Amino acid sequence: MLRCTISYFIDNEPAGAMRRTGRIVRRSGRVLAAAWMCALAATAVCPAGAQVPFAIRQIADGDYAHFGRIALTSSENLGDIANLGIVIGRDAAAVIDTGGSVAVGEAALAALRQVTGKPLRYVINTHEHPDHLFGNAAFALPGVTFVGHANLPASIREHGPFYLHSFRDLLGADEIARVRLIPPAVLVTDTMELDLGGRTLLLTAWHQAAHTDCDLTVLDEQTHTLFAGDLVFLDHVPVIDGSLKGWLDVLPRLAAMNAERVVPGHGLWVAPWPAALDDERRYLLAIQADARRLIASGTPLADAVPHIGESERTRWRLFDDYNPRNATAAFSELEWE
Ligand SMILES: [Zn+2]
Repeated sequence: MLRCTISYFIDNEPAGAMRRTGRIVRRSGRVLAAAWMCALAATAVCPAGAQVPFAIRQIADGDYAHFGRIALTSSENLGDIANLGIVIGRDAAAVIDTGGSVAVGEAALAALRQVTGKPLRYVINTHEHPDHLFGNAAFALPGVTFVGHANLPASIREHGPFYLHSFRDLLGADEIARVRLIPPAVLVTDTMELDLGGRTLLLTAWHQAAHTDCDLTVLDEQTHTLFAGDLVFLDHVPVIDGSLKGWLDVLPRLAAMNAERVVPGHGLWVAPWPAALDDERRYLLAIQADARRLIASGTPLADAVPHIGESERTRWRLFDDYNPRNATAAFSELEWE
């Protein structure tokens, strides 16, 4: 089913509000941007027959995003918990991340086919986490090249079997059986430009380790739209699976990118750049300061963890699901500095 409407959105408006069509939505009295918004409905279907609605929105000329739920992976949501991007150039299209299951990947491919007949040339994976690449198999098609950080193949080799095992109960055996861990064929060591015809994507492989040790961002240089993967979290508490200090080191360089808006890896809205980084930076600095203080006072790890990041509790969703893990990671990383 295709439903296309004219609408207006505000750069920092939650997706829920963006769905309102046919009128201007104002926030803080400022309309920051107006654009065509195309709400495209498709459905992800898993082998067991469950169906998950899937929608993409046009966020700039030639740029589309799908906003996954702010949730943990389940058989009910089929791993549709991460944001995906589609960029369409004059000659070809690219997809940025493929979702947390093959069913989500198939829905994303169906949505892509609804908005363009141009060939899909690139699938870009922003990092190793299952909610961003378990859908890769849906895109293993002639003429499609997978692209990722130079560290991504090793990360998939090292952690892939664990991801398949640990997500079996969450997604269900039938859905897991469809997943193929497809490593990138084109590796980005520093930066790389991909040409879609009249539209260049600037890919940046980040160092140090930050969210993970294989974080890649994609900047549409025509519209200045940044697809940040999980280097940017909004509303969903950030997840540290690489390095706290590395992430804080990356942030100023990331902020300097020539972007106007960002699609975060998690979070239900397109946000202005670089203000989108403010909440995440504050959270990471709070974690760092708390951990350092408790380490300096000789507090053991187990006693310290409940107090690390506690001031951030009310500011984030899924806080209790991830903050204890972040606190543990931060304490362990900072303990020997
Ligand atoms: Zn991630």
